Amino acid sequence: MLAKFFPRNILETLKNRLGITQLYPTQYEAVRQGALEGKDLVIAAPTASGKTLVAELTILKRLLEGGKALYMVPLRALASEKYEEFKNFFGVFGYKTAISTGDFDSDDAWLGKYDVIVTTNEKADSLLRHKAPWFDKVSVIVADEIHLLGSDRRGATLEVLLTRTKLMPERPQLLGLSATIGNLEELTEWLGARPVRVDWRPVPLREGVYYNGEIFYNDGQSVSLENHGAPLFDLAYDTLKEDGQLLVFSPTRRSAVSDARKLSAITSKFISPGELKVIRENIRRLKSEHSDKVTLQLLELLQKGVAFHHAGLASEARSTVERMFRDRILKVIVATPTLAAGVNLPARRVVVTDYRRFNVELGYYERIPVMEYKQMAGRAGRPRYDKEGESVLIARSLQELEFLFKEYVEAEPENLSSQLASEPVLRSHLLSVIATSELVRSLDSLGRFLLNTFYSYQNRDYFFVIERAKKILNRLAQAGFLEVRGDKLEPTQLGIRVAELYIDPETAVTGLDFFKKVDQASTLSYLYLIASTPDASTIHLRRGDEEWLEDILKSSSLGPVARPPEDEIEYEFFLQRLKTALLLEDWINEVPEEHIVEKYDVGPGDIYSLIQTAEWVAFALSEIAKLTGFNEHSVRLAVLSKRIEHGVKEELLELVSLRGIGRVRARSLYSHGYKSLIDLVTAREEDLAMIPGIGRALARSIKKQLSSEAEESHEEEEKIQELPEQGLDAYF
Ligand code: ADP
Repeated sequence: MLAKFFPRNILETLKNRLGITQLYPTQYEAVRQGALEGKDLVIAAPTASGKTLVAELTILKRLLEGGKALYMVPLRALASEKYEEFKNFFGVFGYKTAISTGDFDSDDAWLGKYDVIVTTNEKADSLLRHKAPWFDKVSVIVADEIHLLGSDRRGATLEVLLTRTKLMPERPQLLGLSATIGNLEELTEWLGARPVRVDWRPVPLREGVYYNGEIFYNDGQSVSLENHGAPLFDLAYDTLKEDGQLLVFSPTRRSAVSDARKLSAITSKFISPGELKVIRENIRRLKSEHSDKVTLQLLELLQKGVAFHHAGLASEARSTVERMFRDRILKVIVATPTLAAGVNLPARRVVVTDYRRFNVELGYYERIPVMEYKQMAGRAGRPRYDKEGESVLIARSLQELEFLFKEYVEAEPENLSSQLASEPVLRSHLLSVIATSELVRSLDSLGRFLLNTFYSYQNRDYFFVIERAKKILNRLAQAGFLEVRGDKLEPTQLGIRVAELYIDPETAVTGLDFFKKVDQASTLSYLYLIASTPDASTIHLRRGDEEWLEDILKSSSLGPVARPPEDEIEYEFFLQRLKTALLLEDWINEVPEEHIVEKYDVGPGDIYSLIQTAEWVAFALSEIAKLTGFNEHSVRLAVLSKRIEHGVKEELLELVSLRGIGRVRARSLYSHGYKSLIDLVTAREEDLAMIPGIGRALARSIKKQLSSEAEESHEEEEKIQELPEQGLDAYF
C-alpha cells in the first residue's frame, strides 16, 4: 500500500532498518483515508494501535516534499518520549528532530534548522505568539492526545491553537491523534477533518470487575482467584505467579504509597537475584541524587520489587521507575491517575482500585470520567509479552459491582466539550489573538474568530461568548493592554508584551498594582507577590501549618502588601500563598531539598514544578516592570527569577551560569575559593577536578566553556545539563 507513496529506497529502509513489514489496521485505515495525500484527519484508536507510525509516515511524506513538521503533545514527559523516538525514526532518513518545551519568551529561531519539531501545546502557542520565522514552512501539524482539548484550562490552549491553524491562509495538514471519544464526528466537523475510528488493538483487552474473590468479565465469563487476604493481594498474586506485570491505579498519593507498601509483602517473593542486583544499582544511583523522605520511601519499596508513582516524585525517580518497569525488572507500580494521561507504560493487568479521585483543588472526591477509566484500562496488555490484557475494577459490594459494570465497563466515553468559556482562559487567549496575530483587529474579526472556535461550534450560543468577550475586552482596555476605538482593536506595547510573555493578563495587573503601591520590597514580599498571581501554583495547607505560618507572619517582612484577609476562605488562600513564598525563600537560600520536603510536606517533583512557574512569573513581572518604568522592581525581579531557577543566593549566580553547575556544585566551588568566572579562568583544571562533586569530566567542561571557542550545539548543552549533582548534599 505504501508503494504508491514512497520511492523504493524509502520503502526498503522502512522494512530493513525499522522493521515495518506490514501496516497495522489503524495505519491502513489512515492511509486509506488520505493521510499521505495531505488530508486532515483525526484518528481515534486505542493506545498502542500504531497511531504514532501514522504520524511518522505522514511527516516523512511531507518532509520528502520539502516541508517541515510540528508535533504537539500535552505534557513535557511525552515530548521527551516522542523526541527520542523520532530522533531514531527520522534520523534514519537523514532528517533532524528537535525538542522545545521551555522558555516561553522566545521564537527559538534555531528550530529553523530542524525538520521535525516536538513541542508541548503551550510551547507551540508561545512560538506562534512570537511569530517564529520558520512557522510558515510547517506543512503538517500533529496534535497528539487531541482529546485533552476537553480537559480543564489547558485544553483551551489547544482549542485556540487549532482555531488559529484553521484560519491560517495556507493551512498546514492537520493530523489529530486521539483516544476513543464519544463525539469524534463533532470534533472533526469543526476542524474540517475526516474522522478515522479504529477499535483494533494489538493485544486484545478484557475488562472486568473484582468482587468477593472473583473477577467478572465483560464477555460473561468469571474466574475465582486464590485468597491472599485482600482484593489487591489476590489480583497481584494471580498476575505475578504467571510472570505478568501489574499496574495499579490508586486515587491519592497517600493511598498509592500505602497500597505499594502493602503489596511489597507479595512482590518481594517474586524478585530474582539478577533483578535485585539491577534494582540495587538503581537505588544506589537515586540515593546519591536525592535524599529526601519521599525518595527514600520509594527506594525502600523498590528493594522489595514495587514502586509508587506520582507527580511528587523527583523526575529521575519517576523515569527510573518507568524504565525498570519497561525492562520487566519491576513487576508492580501503584500510580495516581495522572499516569494514565502520561507516558506509555503497558502492563498485563491494570487494576483500578477506586472509581473516585481526590480533587486537590476542590478538596473532595469526584467520580473519574469514563474516558479516564478507559485510558487506564487501555494500558493493559503489553505487545510481545502478553496474549491478552486485562483491566479490573474493584467492587466492595454487590451494588457496586453492578454500578461499575454499568457506569464504567460497559459505558461509552464522554463527549469532549470546549473549555474556552472559562474566564481566565478566555481573557488570556483573547489578548493573545489580538496582540500577536493579524487575525483579530476589530470587533468584527473577533466575532469571526470566536465563531470558528470549538466552543461556538458546539454550543451554538455564539452571543453568549461574544458578550463575555466584550466584557473582557473592556477590562483589558482598562488595564492598558489594548485600545478599543469604535470597531477597531489596537493592542498596546504592554498588551503585546503580556501576550508574548505567556502570562494571564491578571498576573500583569497584580504586578502593576504592586509596583505602584510599593517602593521598597523585601525578597519575601516579591515571592508572596509571585505566589499570589493566577499563573503561579501554590501548595496546600496541612494540619498544624496555620500555627507556624501565623508565627512567621508576626515577625516577617511582608510589608503593607499582604494584609491577612478577614474572610475565612480567603484567609486560607492567603496562608497557602505565604507557605509557597516561604518555600521559595528557603529554596533560594540554598536550604537542602530534603529539608524542604520535610518542612513543607511536598515531594521533590512538587518543588520542581513550583520553581518552574515561579521562575517564569518572576521573569515576566520583571519584564512588565521594565516596560512600565519600574526599573528597580525590574532588576530585583530579574535577579530573583535567576535565583529561583537555580535555587541559590545571589553570590552564586555567576557560577551557576555554567552548564553542569547547579546549586550544590556552585556552593562547593565557592567555598573552595572559586567565587567568580574569573577565578575559574585562572584556575588549573587539575585543581578544579579535586573539588568535591566536580571531578575530571566537569573540570574539563568548565575550562572548555570558559575558553573563547566555547560554542556547543543544543544537544551537547542538554547532555551536560543532565549530569546529576551526585551525592553532593552529603558535603554540606
Ligand atoms: P499509539 O501511538 O497508537 O499508542 P504506537 O504507535 O506507540 O501506538 O505503537 C505501539 C507499538 O507498535 C510500538 O512499539 C510500535 O513500534 C509498534 N508498531 C506500530 N506499527 C507497527 C507496524 N506496522 N509494524 C510493526 N510494529 C509496529
